[in-house]
Amino acid sequence: MVEQNTTDEVVEKLRIEITRKINRRKRRRRLQLCLVSFVLFLGIVVAVVLGNQSATIYVEANSLEIFQDSEKPEFNIQVTVEGKSNLVLDKDTGYTVESLREDIEEGIAIGIDCELVPSDIDGEEYQEGTYVIDAYLAEEYQEKLSNEWKKKIRIEIVDGNIEVKNKLGYWEDDTFISWDSEVVKEQWISSQGDTYYIDQSGHKLEDTQLQVGLMCYTFDSEGKLISSEPYIDPDKPTIAITYDDGPSSYTYELLEVLESYDVHATFFMQGASIKEKYQDTLIKMLEIGCELGNHSTTHADLTKLSSSEIEDEMDITSGKIEALTGELPTVMRPPYGAVNQSVKDTVDFPIILWNVDTEDWKTENPQDIVDHILEEVSDGDIILMHDTKSWTVEATEEVIPLLIEQGYQIVTVSELAEVKGVELQDGVTYRFIE
Ligand code: ZN
Repeated sequence: MVEQNTTDEVVEKLRIEITRKINRRKRRRRLQLCLVSFVLFLGIVVAVVLGNQSATIYVEANSLEIFQDSEKPEFNIQVTVEGKSNLVLDKDTGYTVESLREDIEEGIAIGIDCELVPSDIDGEEYQEGTYVIDAYLAEEYQEKLSNEWKKKIRIEIVDGNIEVKNKLGYWEDDTFISWDSEVVKEQWISSQGDTYYIDQSGHKLEDTQLQVGLMCYTFDSEGKLISSEPYIDPDKPTIAITYDDGPSSYTYELLEVLESYDVHATFFMQGASIKEKYQDTLIKMLEIGCELGNHSTTHADLTKLSSSEIEDEMDITSGKIEALTGELPTVMRPPYGAVNQSVKDTVDFPIILWNVDTEDWKTENPQDIVDHILEEVSDGDIILMHDTKSWTVEATEEVIPLLIEQGYQIVTVSELAEVKGVELQDGVTYRFIE
């Protein structure tokens, strides 16, 4: 019995041993099969990648920074090839990946666009911000890429961007720092399409109004300028400066002086001098808020003319002014200040005389004119000058900032009347307006 048992056990052990060996072999074979399959798969993948797309061209638009008043910049791209650059894309022409790279680099195969938003009407400056530089393959190449070149080459394009920076500086809360690190004071700032004013303490004005010259500016709670309206302060001394006998070759320059100080004047023009070449001058008068006046046609003493002759003197000049500007004069000044009842009855304008005569036609010295005005001037005055003399332009340039410093508002005759509550009437003479 014992003998029999032992033999059975040995046989059983052998059976188990053989089964294990068989299983082990099976497992090894399965593993080998797996490995072979994996290697085969990898081979196929590599073959597909190498065989079908043998090169990649990377195109990257270079990012850049400019100031808003710079000219539109040149956009540059970086082109690199990965893979076979000598691969022939077109057998007939021998066009290779390298040829394509060159065509991209030279801008033949690629377009670059960047739409910079202008910040002013002239389009000379750009609005600050970050803009995308869009690089794209030319249509013809795009088509080849998705057809005959499809399996040979890949092109990857990365857009760039352009940072447009404010020309003056940058905001730090409600202060504005210039690019040379100074806190900006008493200055207008144009930023992101809005206008701000930085006061003398270096902060932007918010929720308030600012009076500069003859304008009143209103700012919202963020400091953005929301309106600018002409405003003459009735509590401030106000005077009218008037110029006779023009227009002349000095008038335009004079207007630029008035404009730079944001002040107004009245021009009594004589018809004989109103020529087409002065059209820009007359239009500028209106544009900067000056007043057009009639000073007769031939500079005649109107008291020596008949009513119909006076009418002609007025009408011809008014017609010339209207022809060049589209506007009629609103006031008149008789040559030499000569007025009689006939003149008063005939002219359809308020008759504007003066009470401060600079006698600028007599002197050639601008300082004399300046001294004369500063000595005599007071609230409500009408000052007489002539825009036919170069020294009068010089005197104007000198005297205006001094008058402003003394608190004077410098306006047209009609504005002076309005702020003083006087209604100007036709045929009535005015030497000053209080
Ligand atoms: Zn005159």
